[in-house]
Amino acid sequence: MLRLGIVGGGQLARMLALAAHPLGVRVQALCAKADESAHRVMPVRVAIGERLVDLRALADDSDVLTFESEDLDAGALRAVCGSKPIFPPLRALELSQDRLLEKHFLRGLGTPLAAFAPVETREDLEGGLATLGLPAVLKTRRGGYDGKGQVVLRDDFDVSHAWTHLGGRPLVLERLVRFERELSLVATRGRTGEVRFYPLVENVHVDGILRATLAPAADVDPRIERLAQDHARRILESLDYVGVLAVEFFEHGDELSVNEFAPRVHNSGHWTIEGAETSQFENHVRAVCGLPLGSTQPRGPSAMLNLLGALPELTALLAIPGAHLHLYDKSEVPGRKLGHVTLCAPDRRMLAERLACALNVIERGDSDLRRRLRLTEWTHSNSSA
Ligand code: AMP
Repeated sequence: MLRLGIVGGGQLARMLALAAHPLGVRVQALCAKADESAHRVMPVRVAIGERLVDLRALADDSDVLTFESEDLDAGALRAVCGSKPIFPPLRALELSQDRLLEKHFLRGLGTPLAAFAPVETREDLEGGLATLGLPAVLKTRRGGYDGKGQVVLRDDFDVSHAWTHLGGRPLVLERLVRFERELSLVATRGRTGEVRFYPLVENVHVDGILRATLAPAADVDPRIERLAQDHARRILESLDYVGVLAVEFFEHGDELSVNEFAPRVHNSGHWTIEGAETSQFENHVRAVCGLPLGSTQPRGPSAMLNLLGALPELTALLAIPGAHLHLYDKSEVPGRKLGHVTLCAPDRRMLAERLACALNVIERGDSDLRRRLRLTEWTHSNSSA
């Protein structure tokens, strides 16, 4: 029986484990705490940070290693990668950990990106603003996620405020993209170089946090789908990548630019558990274990809603036809991802109805997400899947 060691014990490790069990792959995770999300579905080793001794113990007990987070000590992982294979490649992890290195790498591949400038000092910031102009976004190079570590700059007041909050750390300034939609592409590459793509999906963020994914994205021009796949394929091949990769795009006019990539299973791919023939979790396990990849075909239209901060009335949610609930076994903290629900339906019209019911339960009258999801447009959309 193949043994897969996962560095990290959050909900992504938990869902990887749930996908690994039926394949006969034995999993264990290295966690920061004994009660992390993964602990009820797989054996966990508790470790503080990524101490070499703990990583070595995990590697000794595994045939292959993977990771579920970018917030890791890549150097420590490098030190153990001689003993056991680690996928995705650590270079992908290192690039995704530093926005500036990631942008240089993507630019080197010819990938379209928002104009950017590195910022270390207040003078760099003024220089960057003189070149890029306002509006812009100032982001920390490392450690930012779910909208943390970034500030949108629209006027001089925002600039001073952002510098007070973020100044002193290595930063990157980006031009604010006036996008029509945010799309993402989840791709998988196997050990033999075989590549499969899930369809482009639309993501709705509120305050930088993913709230909803619509899969597949409605009315995607086939040229845009091909472009997205070409950009992702270039990343996969240049890194000799193995596993699931998520690439986030901005769609503006008939163009795409890349925001960032994540070298792991991704929140915008959670819909694949029920919505696709093979989930992103199963395909990641298959890829890193050297097994053939499964079909990435969607079964029909679906939508994923994140459950953030406090759980809604779960019985009301489960009463909606086509609703599939995933709880992560985490305590309620404002803004924390506690679970998600995926709604599946035979066509978009029915999906829009089910989504409207789910929003009534989850959002309790908050109309912003409803407006951002453009449910009426969905109902009138031509495409059925
Ligand atoms: P990130 O942490 O880079 O994924 O950013 C989180 C979210 O902030 C994105 O999903 C976008 O909604 C928004 N955002 C980030 N960078 C930009 C940008 N250059 N232009 C417009 N929106 C952005």
